Amino acid sequence: MTRPHFNRILLKLSGEVLMGKGQFGIDPETVTRMAQQIAEAKEAGHQLCIVVGGGNIFRGIAGAAKGFDRTSADYMGMLATVMNALAMQNALEKLGVDTRVQSAIPMASVCEPYIRRRALRHMEKGRIVIFAAGTGNPYFTTDTAAALRAAEMGCDALFKGTSVDGVYNADPKSDPGATRYDSLGFGRVLADNLKVMDAAAVALCRDNNIPIVVFNIREQGNLADVLAGEGTATIVQN
Ligand code: UDP
Repeated sequence: MTRPHFNRILLKLSGEVLMGKGQFGIDPETVTRMAQQIAEAKEAGHQLCIVVGGGNIFRGIAGAAKGFDRTSADYMGMLATVMNALAMQNALEKLGVDTRVQSAIPMASVCEPYIRRRALRHMEKGRIVIFAAGTGNPYFTTDTAAALRAAEMGCDALFKGTSVDGVYNADPKSDPGATRYDSLGFGRVLADNLKVMDAAAVALCRDNNIPIVVFNIREQGNLADVLAGEGTATIVQN
């Protein structure tokens, strides 16, 4: 299947993909490998911005289940994404890639606040912008933040880096008969409740005509390959 060429993309990285083989937290080697892939994609001429999750450190729903107030737990989750953003910034800057972190929750001594026009300017100058703190609102996820920022930044596509090589009709880790889709429509994803991103994020991409490309980010070099139209991935589009 030939995939369209995407110039400006938003890369969504779940907190999970920063854990490496661990069960929790940030694995520096894994973050470095992710950063290498991102640097490679930038080197190939793509404009990139990133939304990082926080599930490797704290998830609001899990916190609420243990007795925290849901909104406080969600703010804790958003703060976790800031830690991941700083780790990624550090790894990218070590590779000589100019990077800015912008947080939806302003924290002046740590990073820039989210300012759309400034973020666009950074990207035009070839910097990678990492968006932290999700949407800045409780009861949302970083998937939704990724769809929102992709729309605001005028991205051609949202790349969702996961640990599987696309979208399947069943869980490929537990069902050997599961088959992968090369491409599918937003309507199908929502109707069949396929595990791509949460429904709010999928609907936002559908309404703004932003394709979602699901691919395996754990495979080194795969981001650049998929961007070049090679490699295995599933594209969700209208
Ligand atoms: N979160 C939030 N609002 C947002 C984005 C995130 O409240 O706009 C909180 C929420 O508690 C979530 C946590 O931050 O569980 C970490 O984000 P997420 O679970 O999306 O991270 P991922 O699964 O991608 O690692």
